[in-house]
Amino acid sequence: MKPAISIQNLSKSYRNVQALKDISFDVEQGELFGLIGPDGAGKSTLFRILTTLLLADSGKAEVIGLDVVDGFRDIRNRIGYMPGRFSLYQDLTVEENLDFFATIFGTTIEANYDLVKDIYVQLEPFKNRPAGKLSGGMKQKLALCCALIHKPEVLFLDEPTTGVDPVSRKEFWQMLQRLKQQGIAILVSTPYMDEAALCDRIALIQKGEILSIASPETINESFHGTLVAMKSHRMYELLKALRIHPKVESCYAFGEYLNATLIAGETDWKPIEQDMRDKGFDDLVAHDATVGIENVFMQLLSASKA
Ligand code: ADP
Repeated sequence: MKPAISIQNLSKSYRNVQALKDISFDVEQGELFGLIGPDGAGKSTLFRILTTLLLADSGKAEVIGLDVVDGFRDIRNRIGYMPGRFSLYQDLTVEENLDFFATIFGTTIEANYDLVKDIYVQLEPFKNRPAGKLSGGMKQKLALCCALIHKPEVLFLDEPTTGVDPVSRKEFWQMLQRLKQQGIAILVSTPYMDEAALCDRIALIQKGEILSIASPETINESFHGTLVAMKSHRMYELLKALRIHPKVESCYAFGEYLNATLIAGETDWKPIEQDMRDKGFDDLVAHDATVGIENVFMQLLSASKA
């Protein structure tokens, strides 16, 4: 079975920025694949090349077995693309937006209603409201419906949940799981690490380079070293003190805690905890930290800079 997306040695530069550096990976049919990386990593550039809107400088990419340059017409008819912003017509109503996207793909809402109905029932009470007047979560749902209305074989979602509230984000990912069960391959980018954990596989991308590709579980297992979580009401002072501690290799803030990785060979963080108490962090809370994708990302980033 051919992969849904196949990327071989893809590179792309804008005037003085190399946005993609020799990227290669495949997305299998029916796979939910996450592209994880900070702003400027090259995610949107990759989306634009794969959706045939931008030409690469070198390398090759195929979508549903078709070359992105020679097969661009077919590809455009058989994929769904939800760009990061501006994918809806703000002055058109919910129903008019959906009807518009169905019409340009030569289909009707009725013909493919089954595919979008789980999502569309939530929008139906607002079907006469202009898209510009919907909440963030509702806009994303409508944009997903519009990207799905012609029954695409592959779905490209560029940061679909950025700026969306946590409940809507969760619902959105439940919808993606259902679409995956229908055999649609999905390439999705996200800056949220909790979403990354819901993908079958993820690629960590930074400055146009892939740092790692694996399942979220395998990525987490690739973390090396002992990780401790600490917090105090004087977080910034604690961060500075931990960063210069001789037994700490690195320390970053994650949510309400700091995560410190011990230097190679050290596994016991109790002496570090004691040192911090001796320095006056009386309210210190310390415990073993659970490794998450963001910890691996930071470790890979510092290794790539070294
Ligand atoms: P991401 O989607 O991960 O935020 P992008 O693909 O948008 O990353 O950008 C990758 C790099 O390319 C960034 O350094 C960005 O500033 C640069 N870039 C993107 N689009 C253009 C453009 N049209 N002209 C010049 N530089 C660009």
